[in-house]
Formats: sequence, structure tokens, C-alpha cells
Amino acid sequence: MQYENSLAFARQLDKNDALRAYRKEFFIPKVNGKESIYLCGNSLGLQPRSVQKHIQTELEDWKNLGVEGHVHARHPWLYYHHFFSKSVARLIGAKAGEVVVMNQLSVNLNLMLISFYRPKGKRVKILMQANEFPSDYYAVEQQVRLHGLNPKECIVEVLPREGEVTLRTEDIVAKVAELKDELALVMFSAVNYYTGQFYDIKTISEACCKHKIVFGLDLAHAIGNVPLQLHDWHIDFATWCSYKYLNSGPGGVSGVFVNNHHAKNFDLPRLAGWWGNDEKTRFRMHKHFVPQAGAAGWQLSNAPVLSMAAHKASLEIFDQVGMRALRQKSELLTGYLEWLLQSALQSADAKVHFRIITPTDKKQRGAQLSIQTERNGKKLFDKITKAGVIADWREPDVIRVAPAPLYNSFEDVWRFAQLISAV
Ligand SMILES: *Cc1c(COP(=O)(O)O)cnc(C)c1O
Repeated sequence: MQYENSLAFARQLDKNDALRAYRKEFFIPKVNGKESIYLCGNSLGLQPRSVQKHIQTELEDWKNLGVEGHVHARHPWLYYHHFFSKSVARLIGAKAGEVVVMNQLSVNLNLMLISFYRPKGKRVKILMQANEFPSDYYAVEQQVRLHGLNPKECIVEVLPREGEVTLRTEDIVAKVAELKDELALVMFSAVNYYTGQFYDIKTISEACCKHKIVFGLDLAHAIGNVPLQLHDWHIDFATWCSYKYLNSGPGGVSGVFVNNHHAKNFDLPRLAGWWGNDEKTRFRMHKHFVPQAGAAGWQLSNAPVLSMAAHKASLEIFDQVGMRALRQKSELLTGYLEWLLQSALQSADAKVHFRIITPTDKKQRGAQLSIQTERNGKKLFDKITKAGVIADWREPDVIRVAPAPLYNSFEDVWRFAQLISAV
């Protein structure tokens, strides 16, 4: 598409946008009494208007039924986690039994590592990406220590080449091959939180499969953002959060994927609680844990229904829209933003000092662009914030912006680019 830098053109794109009606399904925060330009959906997605109704339903059932709500609520609480399987499985390319919604992301990451990081003999190492999210480092580091091993020796990072910021697939694959007999696990965020790079997960997984190395994913910045085929890609396990692109509210419930080829591997060590036990015998209060087959067997506690109600509201929207249409708009929207920023850079005005560190290849990114500022970055950020932009500043010099295709408009993106050029 031939883009143009004008408000009229941005509005024309909005008019032609098949998803434009969805913006009205969300509350857009205001700054100084005016709708903000909200570009922070990669950090906390906006509230769908339908959330209140869904939470209200559970509050009423609790009010009117008390404990009976476990069985007689409109959405019986006993089975609450079942209500998500199909929707979540669709988002990540999984079979329904391969997913379960539960806990929080870092909790689930630890649960998954307990089962899937099984150092043995020479195979003790974990391969990660450089610049991974801190919580993931902490989890991996402590898991290594739980095995009495030294994180300094066991955690290996794939680094960008000199002068580069993102990683090359061939370098990741080469590292897997180089360390093949020492790796117990490869653990990657599918989309890097800082650069916005979407890795070639299929190719990395093929390398792991070839050398029989377990491959796990953190989908925090990937779910609801980029197309995923976890089952077909032979991913062993994954976890994510629901409050970023999935718009399910602060601290919203997480979920895990466990590939069907581990579904009945009851020898895998795991942490346990009654909710992971076979549903038929859960209330017999036996002493011995009989895990359910599949991802559900990793549950510990009964479902946090109020928080899950928000998740349910949000997933209904994803069910309606589907990832294909969402991705289509997302590529166009982020593409337009990139084009506008690049034009600003190429304009005669030499005062613009930034570069985009997110890959230019659409296949290697989702909805996020990370803008690295040369100097006075924080000042620039503060100025656009004052002007009504809600975005994200990452020390030392990066502004992250994420046009979310469910509620951001082409006009949002155009106005943002105008502000960046102006200040
Ligand atoms: C957002 C994010 C987290 C946050 O973890 P919580 O347990 O949800 O607080 C962890 N890891 C990554 C990669 C993230 O992007």
C-alpha cells in the first residue's frame, strides 16, 4: 500500500478498517479531558466494556448462592477453567487439552521449569535470549540453584552480533547445535519485550527437536499479538499472561500450554494441588495425588473466578475477531506507524534523533515498535506524555509503542507520529 502522511489519509484507513467498530468496545483513558493516544497495550491492555457485566454476574451469583455457586452459578465455578480452553487454544494453535488457565505468569513459569528443566549428566544448561525479561531470568536462575547447580555455568545467552540489537535466527540455531549435548532446555520469549522482535520459533524448535532438547516459550508479548502454532511447532511447554494484548485486567490470570506428547507423562515431577487431581476423585479427599492428563494436571488451586470473569469477557472479543483479521490489521497499523516515523527521520528537519530497533520485516515483529532515542529521550517522552500519549519508557533510552489493532486507530498512529516529529 502507498501510505500518505495526512490526517485525511489516516481517517480513510480507519473508514476501510473492518475492525473499526471494536474500538467502541473498550474504555479509552483520558488525559486532560481528551481521549489519550493509548499505545501501551503491550504493557496493560484496555478494559473491554463487557468486563463489568461478566464480573457482576459472578458477584450476584456469589451473593445469591454462596457456596452453591460452585455448582449452580450461571457459570459453575467448579468448572470455570474449562470455559477458556477452546478460545485460548485457538489463540496459540493448541489442542484444547493442551492448555489451562491458572495462576500468574511467573508462578507458571516456575511450575513449568520444575517439570521441564531436568538437568542430567552433561545436559545441564539452559539457553536463553540476551535481554530477556528480568522475571524470567530470576525464575531460571533459581531453578538452576534448586538443582544444586551454578547459574553462571548453566545459563547461556544468545547475543546479538556486534553493532546489532536483535538476534539472527541462524545464530540461535548455531548456538543450539554448538551446545547440543550440554543443553537441558531452550527457553525463549517468543516476542522480546524490549526490541519487539518476534523470533522464528518454528525454525528454533526444529533445531531443538533435532537434538532432543526441550523447548519452552514465554508468550507474554506474543499471545493475542502474533500468529502461533504451538502444537504443530512441537513446542514442549509455554506460559503467558492475559493483561497485555489480551486485555484481561491488571494482574489478570495466566495460562500454560503443555504439549500432548507430555499429557500422560505422569512421571514428570511437578508441584501439585487438589485442582490438578483427577476431577472424579478430587472430592474424595484421598491422600495420593492422581494428576489429570494434559495441562489441567498442572493446576494447584481452585479458580480465581472474579479475575477469570474479566478474562472471559475479553476472550469473547478475540473469539469474534479471530487472529487472522487481527494480524492483518496489526501489520497495516504498525506498518503505517513505521512508515510515518521513517518519513520523519528522512525529512530535512535534522532535529529528529532516534531509530527504530524493532525488525522492519513484518514476520519478525508484532504490534510493537521500540524507538531508541539518541539523546534527551526522556525529555521527549515526557513531552509527548504531556500532550496526551500513553506509551512506555524503558531505561536507558527506549520508547516502546504498541498500536493494538483491537482499539487503536490509524488516526491514533498518525497523531502520535505528528507529535514525535513536532517535539
Ligand atoms: C510481562 C512479563 C512478565 C510479568 O510476569 P508476571 O508474573 O505476570 O508479573 C514476565 N515475563 C515476561 C517476558 C513479561 O513480558
